[in-house]
Amino acid sequence: MGDIIKLLPDHVANQIAAGEVVQRPASVVKELMENAIDAGATSIKLIIKDGGKVLIQVVDDGVGMSDTDARLSFERHATSKIQCAEDLFNLSTKGFRGEALASIAAIAHVELQTKPSNTEVGTHIKIEGSKIAAQEVIVTPKGTSIAVKNLFFNIPARRNFLKSNSVELRHITDEFHRVALAHPSIHFYFYNNGSELFNLPQSNYRQRIVNIFGSKTNEKLVPVEEETQVVKISGYIGKPEFAKKSRGEQYFFVNNRFIKSPYLHHAVVAAFEGLIKSENHPGYFLYLEVDPASIDINIHPTKTEIKFDDEHTLYALLRSAVKHSLGQFNVAPALDFEQ
Ligand code: ADP
Ligand code: MG
Repeated sequence: MGDIIKLLPDHVANQIAAGEVVQRPASVVKELMENAIDAGATSIKLIIKDGGKVLIQVVDDGVGMSDTDARLSFERHATSKIQCAEDLFNLSTKGFRGEALASIAAIAHVELQTKPSNTEVGTHIKIEGSKIAAQEVIVTPKGTSIAVKNLFFNIPARRNFLKSNSVELRHITDEFHRVALAHPSIHFYFYNNGSELFNLPQSNYRQRIVNIFGSKTNEKLVPVEEETQVVKISGYIGKPEFAKKSRGEQYFFVNNRFIKSPYLHHAVVAAFEGLIKSENHPGYFLYLEVDPASIDINIHPTKTEIKFDDEHTLYALLRSAVKHSLGQFNVAPALDFEQ
């Protein structure tokens, strides 16, 4: 028998990688917004049409890209964020895989406009089927705009699998909330089919939560603060009386990255034990800061799961910090008398 193994062409490899990174329009939203944050943007606009099936556009005022970088950014494993494997354990950026733009360009029509601060003019690139279809010099402000059109146009099975526009919009909104909650110092705008859904000016964590979930949220929040050698915990938990039957707002951020962690979730729920009915769910917005060397983010392409060196200690610290806050809140009137 002769040799039968072949190297896949780049566009096929990119489509395969895209299968992991891009499940639905919301995945594209996440990747583009994270790139804007990594670019140091102070203002980020998200523009959506038809649940992201027709258009997903993110416009930022970050550092922009040179003409050459603009072309290179769509290559697989092309990244400005890490240089060697050790860098994976000292990450200060959201991205590092250099796969998002290559993946997206393999399954959608992409238009990029970008300009760094040190050039007079910028670059406009159109990509179709992973290939640069057009490139021109344009006049544009500093920053980057990436428009992703007709997602999964070349993968009918994936396109048909998408849910209704309103369901896809809900996933996008969830993703928008996560990114906006992690970065209150950035001004975010969100437009859907031409109408403004969110306009979130620069603020602090508490004000950002209130701006997203409404002014009534303010009175429901109890601050959590704890600092040890291992972790700095800050953020808010919902007062027990506001715990709901539905899951509601439950957010963990580790080094300003939204993550899912059933284990840490359990720590918070355990702290609420005896204070809420077991069928109710507490709300929380918890921000953990840990040494980047003590976590591994590279365990899943979407980077929403991470591995902690010492999960047990984190569990104990988190539960005790939340308990402490709940305790303070419950005995607050008595303490007032002592002061
Ligand atoms: P990663 O974020 O993992 O590096 P991406 O495929 O998302 O990979 O992006 C590739 C590269 O393109 C980035 O490393 C960055 O240099 C550049 N880039 C992408 N988006 C932007 C942006 N909005 N502003 C400036 N540079 C960007
Ligand atoms: Mg990226």
